[in-house]
Formats: sequence, structure tokens, C-alpha cells
Amino acid sequence: MGRRILILGGTADARELAELLDRETDCEVITSLAGRTSQPAVQTGTVRVGGFGGADPLAGYLAENEINLLIDATHPYAAQISTNATAASEAAGVPSFRLERPGWAPLEADNWINVSTVEEAVAALPNGARALVTVGTGGAAPFLQRLDIQVVARMIERPAEPPMPPHKVMVARPPFALEDELLLMRTEHITHLVTKNAGGKKMAPKIAAARALKIPVVMIARPKLPEIETARNLNHALAIMGRLLA
Ligand code: NAP
Repeated sequence: MGRRILILGGTADARELAELLDRETDCEVITSLAGRTSQPAVQTGTVRVGGFGGADPLAGYLAENEINLLIDATHPYAAQISTNATAASEAAGVPSFRLERPGWAPLEADNWINVSTVEEAVAALPNGARALVTVGTGGAAPFLQRLDIQVVARMIERPAEPPMPPHKVMVARPPFALEDELLLMRTEHITHLVTKNAGGKKMAPKIAAARALKIPVVMIARPKLPEIETARNLNHALAIMGRLLA
């Protein structure tokens, strides 16, 4: 019987890791989702949904379910669950590491306005801006409160409260093609793109589109997370796993 692994998920990387482990190892994989998305993407292996109730209950879950390894593959901006994961791993004595893709870096032709928080991103938009805001369902609200700018807020799930005009919500799920990003930015006369630095092998098409159209990008920096061993890609994750489970 292989080892039992809990992946904290909600990302494409977590889905790909579960698929890889299912295909290439005899590990039993459980993926945990927060439950923010009503129709999450299909996931290989067992899925559990919903918060644990904090770090201590997560430690309890690890012990009760005889988890051998915890992999935090949550989004780089999901700081609370990553903090809880580190604390729970220490409390339960279960080894853990994070899977986190490197962030993007600007190219010479990019015009990034680097900010540390969502609040700073809201403040960085000048009066009259037409902003494409791509910070998720939870993060868009502070932008929608500004009435001197126009926001197109793109998100996976429709928010409970529809935005007041002149703002708009666009419900769509990635990936997005470059030509579609260019069309959207042109059609909506976008002057600023607001995004998190999700990172990935390639720069996101929205950033390439902003570069092509000379649109400034308000880039919200990643939050500081507990310093634990971090895999930068799936192969790196497999190597760390091999060592921690040896
Ligand atoms: P967060 O602020 O770090 O977490 C808030 C609480 O949600 C956690 O304390 C935990 O509740 C619960 N939670 C979060 N991730 C969970 C998981 N994978 N399994 C079980 N419970 C989880 O997280 P967030 O920023 O709201 O993100 C929620 C989920 O969406 C994560 O799975 C993340 O990977 C995904 N996501 C986030 C972003 C983003 O920009 N933040 C983008 C794409 C996907 P308890 O304390 O009760 O355990």
C-alpha cells in the first residue's frame, strides 16, 4: 500500500500534481479544496471540500487520516491556508513542502506599477481609468467602490452582488488566448490591467496583450509566506517527495 498524501489545492498545479502522482506512483492522493468555486475543475483522486477550521483542526485531520505527506499547492496569494499548513505540519509531525511556480518578471517593454496590496492597487488607478481587474471574485470589491473609474472585473464565479454601472463583471474561466485578450482590451478601451503575479511557465496572455497595447500593468506583489522547502515545478516536487518519504 502506497503512502497517503494530502494536497492543498485550488490551482492548476495541484490538479496536475494529483494526476501525475496517480499515474506514476502508488500513493493515495487526497486533494483539499476550500469550496470557493461551485463547479471546480475535474480533479484526479479523492477530493474533500471546505475549510478545516484553522491550523489545529488541520493538524488533527493529518493525524486522524494517517497522512504521510502534506503538499501545499495552493495559490501563492492564499496566505492563510499556507500559514496554517506549516503550523499543522509541525504540530502533527507530518513532513510538508510547498509547490509554487516562480513569479513573472517584467520584460523591457513592460510598464508595471508594482504595489504590495489590493488597497495600493486601487489607489494606483488614476481618475478616469478603464481598468481590467483580474484579481478573483473576492478581490474585486474595493475597485468597484471607486466611481471615478470604470472597471471590467473578470472572475470565475458571478459575485453575489452585481456591480453598479459603470462597472461590469465578466464571468470567464482561464485559459485565455492572446487574441481574445487583445480583443477584450481594445473593445473595452482598457487603460490599465490589474493582476496578481500568479506566475507560470509562460507570461500570461493578458500581460502580453497589455505589453502589445502599451497598457500599464498594476502588479500586486505576492504576500510573504512561511519559509518552507518549495518545489518550483512538478519534477522538483517529485524529487522532494522521494526524499521526504524515503
Ligand atoms: P486563504 O485566504 O489562504 O484561506 C482562507 C481559509 O480558507 C483558510 O484558513 C481555510 O479555512 C480555507 N482554505 C483555503 N484553501 C483551502 C484548501 N485548499 N482546502 C481547505 N480549506 C482551504 O485562501 P484564499 O485566498 O481564499 O483561497 C482559497 C482557495 O482558492 C485556495 O485553495 C487557493 O488555492 C484557491 N485560489 C486562490 C486564489 C487567490 O488569489 N487567493 C487564486 C486562485 C485559486 P480553515 O482555516 O477553516 O481551514
